[in-house]
Amino acid sequence: MSLVEVRHVSCLFHRPDGSLLKAIDDVSLDVPRGRTVAVIGESGSGKSTLARLILGIYKTAGGSVRFDGVDIATLDKQAMRKLRARIGVVFQEPFESLNPRMRIGAIIEEPLVVHQKTLSREARRAKVADMLREVDLDPILADRYPGALSGGQQQRIGIARALIGEPSLVVLDEPTSSLDLSVRAQVLVLLARLQKARGLTYLMITHDLASVEYFADEVLVMYRGRIVERGPTAEVLGQPKEAYTQRLLSARLSVEV
Ligand code: ADP
Repeated sequence: MSLVEVRHVSCLFHRPDGSLLKAIDDVSLDVPRGRTVAVIGESGSGKSTLARLILGIYKTAGGSVRFDGVDIATLDKQAMRKLRARIGVVFQEPFESLNPRMRIGAIIEEPLVVHQKTLSREARRAKVADMLREVDLDPILADRYPGALSGGQQQRIGIARALIGEPSLVVLDEPTSSLDLSVRAQVLVLLARLQKARGLTYLMITHDLASVEYFADEVLVMYRGRIVERGPTAEVLGQPKEAYTQRLLSARLSVEV
């Protein structure tokens, strides 16, 4: 059984004119434990909506999302909170996702305050210091504010916050897109190392083909709310079968070169 099993899921939004937009249309996918599945596709293809369905933020209009064998639609509020504690999210814009008025230590600690109420303050602080070391940052940074850090350091804080609760699934929402190329590579190396050390399962949404190539086991290509192609990374990126994927990859390559 895969950690995440999505079956025939759809999601509808109302357009301003009252008509319905099928943002996700009959999508099925598996995210196997300990693996990385990447979802690629141009802007507006439905990648973030799909991630939000898996996180239980949006409700499905048909189909099911199972996390560790449990249909998330059957969970009450408390069970849903427990499930959310098992999922970490790393966002594209680290600075926007980090409260500038909170000290870094408090930012990283927050998920523990919410989800692990029995932990003492000292135990939480010790975990934060360990987590900072694990993302290659000096624990002394716990007393500083995020605005004082570089983009790469901020993303390391975002990763530390996502992992502090020891989640099994991490949703990586464009984790490297806002970073400079050299920093991007360092963050990818860190994410790969953490995955190995902690046995994490990654669902990655991205435009950045280099990160897909670097560590995705499988790639799903989305177009207008549907998955139009899927397969092992080397196959999809190396020999795409669908005309849409071929266009997407050649457009990206010409932009990247
Ligand atoms: P991507 O992440 O691939 O850029 P999204 O999942 O954000 O794509 O969007 C897919 C489609 O759904 C787009 O047409 C977008 O405008 C629409 N959409 C996304 N979220 C909402 C929302 N909350 N309300 C209405 N329409 C939405």
